Amino acid sequence: MGQPVNNFDHHFESRLINRREWTRRLSLVSLTTAFTASGALFPADATAKLATVNRAGVPYVRLDDVIKRYGFSRSFAGDTITLKSKWTRITFTLGNRIIEFNGLKMFLNASFVKLTATDWGVAEVDVLKTLDPLLRSAEFLKRAGSKTILIDPGHGGKDSGARNAGKTLSEKTAAYDIATRLRTRLLRERFNVRLTRAGDRTVGLYERAAQAGEVKADLLVSIHLNSAGSKTAAGIETFAVTLPGQRSTHDHGGGRPDGKRYHTNSYDGANLIAAHAIQSALITKTGATDRGVKRARFVVIREAKCPAVLVECGFLSNTAEAAKVASAAYRDVLADGIAHGVFDYMRKVRAAG
Ligand SMILES: [Zn+2]
Repeated sequence: MGQPVNNFDHHFESRLINRREWTRRLSLVSLTTAFTASGALFPADATAKLATVNRAGVPYVRLDDVIKRYGFSRSFAGDTITLKSKWTRITFTLGNRIIEFNGLKMFLNASFVKLTATDWGVAEVDVLKTLDPLLRSAEFLKRAGSKTILIDPGHGGKDSGARNAGKTLSEKTAAYDIATRLRTRLLRERFNVRLTRAGDRTVGLYERAAQAGEVKADLLVSIHLNSAGSKTAAGIETFAVTLPGQRSTHDHGGGRPDGKRYHTNSYDGANLIAAHAIQSALITKTGATDRGVKRARFVVIREAKCPAVLVECGFLSNTAEAAKVASAAYRDVLADGIAHGVFDYMRKVRAAG
């Protein structure tokens, strides 16, 4: 409370200029100015308890209350409603649980619904665990650290992970290469950096997660490449651990609520802020298809004793995307995107402390 609201990367609101241009312009603005400018965004009742209405067993918050809480204006276009403030633009679509948050896809736990003829609703869990962390980051990062990053190159050793069609490229090799490029960038900015595996080794998932506690990591970033039955599937997605009692975005890591609260759920706000920052920077840098910020109970991101995200950097099952990943120049862009997401997250942590 009383902390300046850190909304530094929530700036992709203009339709007139693209994300890249916004990033360039914002980088010219001093951090102090941005924090001060966004500090006045929210009315004093931003922490007030929200009234809820049940719909099919799910507690919903009235959209009007969301608008009041954060000081948004709203506009309608068919089935979509857009909420706007100086730094933020959120688009909801009726019956849909995918929103656009400053141009980036985010998967909510429950669909956006109509409550009455003039009233819409956002699930309470989505207001508290998705919107609030992004809109009031500082409140969720006060106890987060910003020194040590554990990079987890997916697979390795006996486990090759996904392969491209020609079997000339394996996930374990590409992930390791991206990880080392990321390490170089993070070291340059004076972070402590550790990798969960040194070279082409077989390391268990629980062992990888345990390393986060052993090295006292402040953030774990697991790097993977995707594969799908459909050869047209393409793009980048970033996962945070599923919220307790909620469904994962799809069947990865268990779609159904499993009634458990995992250690990493202690960092749900930080997990989401980091996932959003990394996905956002990756999409800006690569121009790849944005598959969104998603939730799953992958072992590595649910068992780690620190905030954790898992990035799927593209589909090896897609010929065009695999060809990109096969090039060192593109893997460098991927590493650059992840690094900028990490920097953005760490800036927020430091501003909150
Ligand atoms: Zn993988």
